[in-house]
Amino acid sequence: MPNKSSKSLFRKASKYIPGGVNSPVRAFRSVDSTPIFIERASGSRIYDVEGREYIDYVSSWGPMILGHSHPEVVRAIQKAAEKGTSYGAPTELEVEMAKLIVDALPSIDMVRMVSSGTEAAMTAIRLARGYTGREKIIKFEGCYHGHADSLLVKAGSGVATLGIPGSPGVPRRLAELTITLPYNDIEAAISAVYLHKDDLACVIVEPVAGNMGVVLPRKGFLETLRDITRRHKILLIFDEVITGFRATYGGFQNLAGIEPDLTCLGKIIGGGLPVGAFGGRKAVMEKLAPSGPVYQAGTLSGNPLAMSAGLATLNILRKSTEAYLRLDRRTALLCEELQKLFAQKKIPVRINRWGSMFTLFFTEDDVFDFTSAAKSDTSLYARYFREMLSNKIYFAPSQFEAAFLSFAHGDKDIEKTLHACEKTIRNLAKRS
Ligand SMILES: *Cc1c(COP(=O)(O)O)cnc(C)c1O
Repeated sequence: MPNKSSKSLFRKASKYIPGGVNSPVRAFRSVDSTPIFIERASGSRIYDVEGREYIDYVSSWGPMILGHSHPEVVRAIQKAAEKGTSYGAPTELEVEMAKLIVDALPSIDMVRMVSSGTEAAMTAIRLARGYTGREKIIKFEGCYHGHADSLLVKAGSGVATLGIPGSPGVPRRLAELTITLPYNDIEAAISAVYLHKDDLACVIVEPVAGNMGVVLPRKGFLETLRDITRRHKILLIFDEVITGFRATYGGFQNLAGIEPDLTCLGKIIGGGLPVGAFGGRKAVMEKLAPSGPVYQAGTLSGNPLAMSAGLATLNILRKSTEAYLRLDRRTALLCEELQKLFAQKKIPVRINRWGSMFTLFFTEDDVFDFTSAAKSDTSLYARYFREMLSNKIYFAPSQFEAAFLSFAHGDKDIEKTLHACEKTIRNLAKRS
């Protein structure tokens, strides 16, 4: 008996931390299990407290595109830590980070750093309201923009996993200002914008949804959102917290050629440290305090450790055009092979993929919004997840999340994953 086990740690954690975890998606509830506790991670691998090694596809939910504990990122953090961990005063690192982001994303003239994606989206909404003088917002079912009150209506990620439509504690009068529409429904978006145009501050959307599982935008969906918001002087916010720097150096917007008014970033730009950011046109961003009246602040905003990790990451990604292409091809190959394995055993799955992120939905129908995603067989997903985990492949403990590959995932990882999947499918077929 090892003296440390995930089970005993989880028992102890549950005594002191609600549900035993500091973020609900970590709890393994929807897959009828309890979390494994992690000791360390390196490259594509993550190690639990009992010494087991897994191939990691959770990637800390998106940030770790270079793989875990990348030497240059680690060195940057160490070097920064030796100079002090926080000053509450401006640093050159923040200027460098802002310039990198402004140079990378065509729609951003100015950017404000914060400490999480939640903060970024929450403040982008406040800024949109302050800038337009209007109060209503439109979001899409199954999209997740962090857990700020206005955004916790029909949200994705853990909210979808646990089947919570909203959340107690969100004032009804605030929730009433959030209009929720089905993702990819162009007609619904046109009529809702027309109906509420005089009260609408913004439309916020994940340009590729990652929080109901990966769902791609249909042709014309985002273009239409851009057109109708521009026509009525409503701000369009792209939440690129997941998609930013995931498939290319820049965001979804670089590839699609659509310029939102505001963009939210997080995850990858922090290199694994707590970071968020939002940016946009100068005229909008200058409404923020202290240049304007819309208030936002943060003790640890632009923190030197986080900036150093982020800068090290972005400076590598900037020179990674080839690596991005290889990553895309490797992920495509993995998805194709997975699809084949399931087809051989006649288990219906749909795989949605964008760049190096994908979701395997247990359904035979096209998945294009939350309703179609929710048709997936989540109990089959739970069994698949547990089998894969016992074969040392660590996927997200929920059907409604994305899997991520990193630059550190090599051919061996893909081979092992496919081999584990073959075994898993045999067992799934046996027991059904
Ligand atoms: C993860 C995520 C957030 C929230 O970011 P946190 O850093 O977890 O607060 C917001 N929007 C999207 C699209 C995300 O994927």
